[in-house]
Amino acid sequence: MELYKLTGHELLKKLSSKEITSEDISLALKKRIKETDPRVKAYVRTDKSGTEAKRIEARDNSALKGIPVSIKDNICTDGLNTECSSRILTGFKPPYDATVIKKLKVSGASILDLKTNMDEFAFGSSTENSFFGPTRNPWNLECVPGGSSGGSAAAVASDEAIMALGSDTGGSIRQPASFCGVVGLKPTYGRVSRYGLIAFASSLDQIGPITKDTEDSALLMNIISGHDPFDSTSACVDVPDYTKSLGMDIKGLKIAIPKEYFVEGLDPQVKSSIEEAINELKKLGAEIKEVSLPHSEYAVPVYYIIATAEASSNLARFDGVQYGFRAEDSRSKDESKLISMYKDTRGQGFGQEAKRRIILGTFVLSHGYYDAYYLRALKVRTLIKEDFDAVFKEFDCIVTPTAPTAAFKIGEKIEDPLRMYLSDIYTISANLSGIPAISVPCGFTKNDLPVGLQILAKPFGEETLFRVAHTYEQNTPWHKRRPTL
Ligand code: GLN
Repeated sequence: MELYKLTGHELLKKLSSKEITSEDISLALKKRIKETDPRVKAYVRTDKSGTEAKRIEARDNSALKGIPVSIKDNICTDGLNTECSSRILTGFKPPYDATVIKKLKVSGASILDLKTNMDEFAFGSSTENSFFGPTRNPWNLECVPGGSSGGSAAAVASDEAIMALGSDTGGSIRQPASFCGVVGLKPTYGRVSRYGLIAFASSLDQIGPITKDTEDSALLMNIISGHDPFDSTSACVDVPDYTKSLGMDIKGLKIAIPKEYFVEGLDPQVKSSIEEAINELKKLGAEIKEVSLPHSEYAVPVYYIIATAEASSNLARFDGVQYGFRAEDSRSKDESKLISMYKDTRGQGFGQEAKRRIILGTFVLSHGYYDAYYLRALKVRTLIKEDFDAVFKEFDCIVTPTAPTAAFKIGEKIEDPLRMYLSDIYTISANLSGIPAISVPCGFTKNDLPVGLQILAKPFGEETLFRVAHTYEQNTPWHKRRPTL
């Protein structure tokens, strides 16, 4: 068996029995990337390889010693290009590591010197909004891998990565995991430090793992979770050993199915895979009951007000002065040189979707519209969160589809932002409410495209997610299937 095909935990066993070395893994992975990435395009700036991430000497028994981890292009890596797949950050090499990277290095993981592709600044659901061009879905190269962490998901699915990190603001870990047939987890807001994650919407963003199975997801969560004095929104809550939740059964667990997630817009093939998965959970001993999350229909509009408002403010720092790209001097006669430099840099440096969001966000925050849009959206956000609180009083978790469809064709939705925004209709509420959610493979469409099952739990209920996801995974064949490339 080729080493790149294995999971992190399988490789760790081989490493500890000294059957292989970490160099064997890196060599196998580099070869795989070289052969496969020209078709999949999961990584950016592949010409730049050779720059080594600075290493920290880890102890021999460190949890991830020798395992390579692939990192999304919006997570700062000391000395390695981190460009959010945007022209405006061209050449930006952070002088420091994000907290998650520091923790990975201490655990002995090796940080891959290539970053994974993404929608520019994580704006999107298809990885088509990348300055570097789209990533392709390993199951069908004509389809999108989902987004915005499409590069990380496609890399894991095509065995071009052992494990990866993504970021999730409205679904960007779970939706691509679903489209690519891998496991993606968005942690509770505050569980994982955001220090060094280039901000999209600070009240929604979380970094999380994208892996081949739930055991690897738990291994990564053990390392990246925990309070960080550098992130004032990170929570002072103890981190359990998530691997202890693996292998527990789900007998008697109470699972809620929200009826609002099974209405018009849900693809019939996705629906039937989800129904089969729910039946499987029932067979495994869970108690299943239908519930209502009455404010679900407002999740998408509320999200696109709050997320764009925060994005417009976070992106104000990219002006050609401090980071990356600066436009050539093209001063108009009537303007000061500085103002025209700002305008040209932002005009040329941001792509279309980034501009759309900056304009939308500035609008909803402007005097006269703030109360009508932004403030009202914040109030509805609370109602959405209260819907979840009510369900979790009675239930251990909620199960839904991750996305309303399987992967769609490249180009199919890019001209129609509203249709694209609906790709996240089932994932956004978890970010608005701050709760954790995982997507696990649960079947395939007739065209052999993966379908994902989403499991949601109350804040800091990641152990429940692992318990349900792992039990389901161990009793179904889906996570073992790999695309032929
Ligand atoms: N697709 C959503 C958006 O475009 C979510 C993105 C994300 O989670 N980063 O905003």
